[in-house]
Amino acid sequence: MAPACETGSLPAGPSMGVILEELRRLQAVEMRFAAIQRDRESKSLQVELRQRQIRRIDEKLQENHRKARECQIRLDALSLDVAVREEAVDKHRQALNKAKTNKEYAAILTAMNTEKADNSKVENSILQLMDELQVMKTEGAVIEAERAKLLVHAATAEEALKAFDAQSQQERDGLTAGREAFAGKITAAAIDIFNRVAMRHEGEAMAPVTKLRPKRDEWACGGCNMKVALEVVNALQTRDDILLCNVCGRILYLDAPTAHKSARV
Ligand SMILES: [Zn+2]
Repeated sequence: MAPACETGSLPAGPSMGVILEELRRLQAVEMRFAAIQRDRESKSLQVELRQRQIRRIDEKLQENHRKARECQIRLDALSLDVAVREEAVDKHRQALNKAKTNKEYAAILTAMNTEKADNSKVENSILQLMDELQVMKTEGAVIEAERAKLLVHAATAEEALKAFDAQSQQERDGLTAGREAFAGKITAAAIDIFNRVAMRHEGEAMAPVTKLRPKRDEWACGGCNMKVALEVVNALQTRDDILLCNVCGRILYLDAPTAHKSARV
């Protein structure tokens, strides 16, 4: 078993070809782009989250104000009711003085007392409503304070995003220029394949083919860890071709300098 493994080493081949080497450089650019994009997205998500929170708290505050307004309107109506009843009590009191008979006096007194009793009921309702209004106002103040804090958080998140954009602008410009420069070094078809694969794997279009065990010709794709056929490894050794992993579709390259060295001896 051991001798078979010894003889299974790869044939000597040229080092990585120009196309694959350039594609690896392009991949480094794309990975950096993707990393910047991920950072930006997480910062942008923070801004969105804060804005959503502010919208929710604005709704809460509006609801609180609406309820307080309704309560105030009811209070105003009840206060008017009390005033009207007090006027009626006054009139009854004046009428009492002018009553000519006991019967008339008693009737006026009863009417007046009914009015007074009704009035004290309304006054109780007023006190209850005033309590409710106070609770609403306290709640409103708490919501306002919470909103003020959220506004600060939102401003901080927006500033962080702006600062990130300003800070990463130069790097992104450099990467864009670098990305464009590859058009002169690699064929459009190769870039096309690269871009399609990169889109599927967040910029990670390339995967190294690595040896699973030092003394055996068993190779795996570094992107998905699935086995890569020996013919593919041989082809990578001898040709500067774009070969894709059968499983994940990444562009394969050899990244085993020790294997190279031992193969060349
Ligand atoms: Zn793979």
